[in-house]
Amino acid sequence: MFYFSLIFQFMNVTHLECANCGKEHEANKLQNLCIDCGKPLLVRYDLAKAAETLTKDALKERQSTLWRYCEVLPVENKENIVCLGEGWTPLLKTDRLAAALPIKLNLYIKDESTNPTQSFKARGMTAAVSMAKELGVKKCAAPSAGNAAGALAAYAARAGMEAHLFMPSDTPRANIIECEQTGAFVTLVDGLITDCGRIVAERKDAEGWFDVSTLKEPYRVEGKKTMGYELAEQFGWKLPDVILYPTGGGTGLIGMWKAFAEMQMLGWIDSRRPRMISVQAKGCAPIVTAFENGARFAGEFPDAQTVASGLRVPKAIGDFLILDALRESGGTAIAVTDQELLAAVGEIGAAEGIFCAPEGAACLPALRVLIDKDLVKENETVVIFNTGAGVKYLECF
Ligand SMILES: *Cc1c(COP(=O)(O)O)cnc(C)c1O
Ligand SMILES: [Zn+2]
Repeated sequence: MFYFSLIFQFMNVTHLECANCGKEHEANKLQNLCIDCGKPLLVRYDLAKAAETLTKDALKERQSTLWRYCEVLPVENKENIVCLGEGWTPLLKTDRLAAALPIKLNLYIKDESTNPTQSFKARGMTAAVSMAKELGVKKCAAPSAGNAAGALAAYAARAGMEAHLFMPSDTPRANIIECEQTGAFVTLVDGLITDCGRIVAERKDAEGWFDVSTLKEPYRVEGKKTMGYELAEQFGWKLPDVILYPTGGGTGLIGMWKAFAEMQMLGWIDSRRPRMISVQAKGCAPIVTAFENGARFAGEFPDAQTVASGLRVPKAIGDFLILDALRESGGTAIAVTDQELLAAVGEIGAAEGIFCAPEGAACLPALRVLIDKDLVKENETVVIFNTGAGVKYLECF
């Protein structure tokens, strides 16, 4: 019994729950979508038990990776954690950038480009691949706009697993090469990420692949929710007033929203929430369109086009979770042009020395729209998520 409790000491997961219909699913076996309604599953924890060892004080002694929050992460046996040093990224105050705005703000960039494989996709993949390893998976597959593939290739390699990746043929070269050089099986598809997803869905059963598509397995959200925990911890257990998040599939936004609810149940924060802002490209803005139309589910965006490849997601399975969070938080959704987001890369770079991914840079013109519409007030604290590294997008410049 003593031995048992040593190995399983971090197991606080109680079950998986459908985010749409609430149906419970068993946690200790491979699951994809809800067996009743086909929507995403979310992990639920015994947070009272987690709170026994996960305390603000205990965190002071913990490792500087996202696994510092292991009590609220899904892995049962620590030996299954596949780690490359992800998470605990810098939260940078960007006064020089703020000075160029028409009102005075406390502006920060949460710089996710310092993650392994240079994007925040590492957060999702460390959790998904660790769980896949724990549950005996030998082969993973995923469609990707680029960075998810790079991250999955790396974590699969580190876990000794096969990664089968499907990307649009015009994905940034850096993403394709990093996957090849980390041992993945790469297929380029003449189409969009939705077409890549269809191929994975068609072939996975025959090939014995576990599908780790965004929100089609429950654990990438768990990895990405740690951005919410980190923000609270780095701000001294306060949350900012506004969060701008470049949104494709929305995993990070959904994850942070979940993290805030968990932290309130842990007794760490009160019921106030940041206003969540989804930023998209005008050439692919399904969430913005649905938000403006008052819809809870988003339609497929036609002829999706943008150089910000991570935002080129014409249909997101977690659309309703994104839209619910935007509305409950009093936030909104804003689309910017490719010209604006590319110009912002250079502006942020020159002001602060951060070479942002075009997706992250899109938050700056979106912030200007918020200011114009009086949706951000003087002296508020605003966080921009730079989700990846500009150096992976050399074709854009
Ligand atoms: C994937 C990606 C996004 C979008 O993230 P989601 O969580 O899918 O909304 C934004 N920026 C970059 C750099 C990405 O790779
Ligand atoms: Zn369901």
